[in-house]
Amino acid sequence: MKCPLCGYEFKENKSAAACKGCKLSRYCTMIKCPNCGYEMPAKPRVVKLLRMLRGEKNGNK
Ligand SMILES: [Zn+2]
Repeated sequence: MKCPLCGYEFKENKSAAACKGCKLSRYCTMIKCPNCGYEMPAKPRVVKLLRMLRGEKNGNK
């Protein structure tokens, strides 16, 4: 996925490493950008929406 803040692209499982040490990471639904540390919600609904938006963008190109 792509970080909305810095534009850094990373795999969602990498964000788990960025969250390492966080006691709440087991219950955390946030994805953390390994580049800038920005946290964003990772709920399936949001991911679906992001994919939709991404698809729309690609279609417009
Ligand atoms: Zn970032």
